[in-house]
Amino acid sequence: MDKIIENLKAKEETLWINPKNAKVNNDEFSKDDIEDARARLDRFAPLLEELFPASRKQRGILESPLVATYELQNKLEKYYATPLFGKLWFKLDSHLPISGSIKARGGIYEVLKHTEDLLIKANLLSLNDNYKKIANDEIKQYLSNFQVAVGSTGNLGLSIGIMSAKLGFKASVHMSSDAREWKKAMLRSYGVNVVEYDSDYSVAVAQGRKEAQNDSNCYFVDDENSKSLFLGYAVAARRLAGQLKSFDIKVDSKNPLFVYLPCGVGGGPGGVAYGLKQEFGEHVHCFFAEPTHSPCMLLGMHTGKHDKISVFDIGLDNKTAADGLAVGRASSLVGKVMDGMLEGIYTISDDEMYRLLYLANKCEGLRLEPSALAGAKGVVHINKLYDSKALENATHIAWITGGSMVPDEEMDKYIQTGKELM
Ligand SMILES: *Cc1c(COP(=O)(O)O)cnc(C)c1O
Repeated sequence: MDKIIENLKAKEETLWINPKNAKVNNDEFSKDDIEDARARLDRFAPLLEELFPASRKQRGILESPLVATYELQNKLEKYYATPLFGKLWFKLDSHLPISGSIKARGGIYEVLKHTEDLLIKANLLSLNDNYKKIANDEIKQYLSNFQVAVGSTGNLGLSIGIMSAKLGFKASVHMSSDAREWKKAMLRSYGVNVVEYDSDYSVAVAQGRKEAQNDSNCYFVDDENSKSLFLGYAVAARRLAGQLKSFDIKVDSKNPLFVYLPCGVGGGPGGVAYGLKQEFGEHVHCFFAEPTHSPCMLLGMHTGKHDKISVFDIGLDNKTAADGLAVGRASSLVGKVMDGMLEGIYTISDDEMYRLLYLANKCEGLRLEPSALAGAKGVVHINKLYDSKALENATHIAWITGGSMVPDEEMDKYIQTGKELM
């Protein structure tokens, strides 16, 4: 058996470098597809600021801050006893309005696209309207004839459930056993039908899909296959390019960009990475990060079996404190699309995510959920992989994927756990 699989089986932290990187072309999506998604989000901005006061400071554009993490980088150098070349930044999707995670990109985008499709077909909306009118009673009444369903480990359910309910849809969210109680409670407070399962993410998705098949008015958001979700995530890239410019950060052959993205089923990190490749080509190097107990994408890409193999097949249990990443089988779409674009994938233990969670709180005052920290170790791996000269002018971005909505009591426990592990 090969070394990579052996390491994964032993739940050891593993770094896999993609041998196919830049060797396989992919034109599944074009720049125009991403631009189309971006324009759609612009059309919806007036509606979002109407419905969600928390989005008004950004005029209904759901975007997150990019912040430098100087103190943390110094701390990481000490903790890992290695110099870290280049500058480390955090992209705080944890602080996206409405649902406090990266799912506020893809999940919300897909619901909005579905809404637009329905309303245009019913002659209740045209592309040139001010979309604020979608909050009107007449339209809300119309949308209440339709249902939206999704299967989730928690955060996708939050995004889709909250958005669907606010627009007037009936919404049902099929939650895996990983989902946190507070996420279920929050959804119920919006009138969402939360269905709980005593099993993992794949089962919750399968049940949601089944429910939708029996009802032509029910739209299923398919996290395992959806192109629409993927494009919603991809919009992040052009906006990030603007943020980098605003800090005078160059991305070119002398100034490489490294981006580390926590990966569950793959849609979120895949969409963002795909968009980044469109923006920066060979000068951006994207890595995914997965829990040692749930390395579904690494397993799928390394073996070439993609969604035809699960972490259970190699004796792993898919049990992790990183609930957003607790996925045993990768998306059928993303692994193939990323084949020639992804630089690599590494795994990280739950204990290490907790320690990084603690350090991010101590050094930067951030309050984040465990999944969010998976990308924060990437800078350490890359500094072992490349020589210092190549990294001197590098920008490292850890994509911080969730946490701002975690209740204080739960967050304090996370931080305490990390502290005790140090
Ligand atoms: C969903 C999620 C991810 C990963 O996104 P996928 O599309 O499942 O790969 C990462 N972090 C958090 C906090 C999430 O909720």
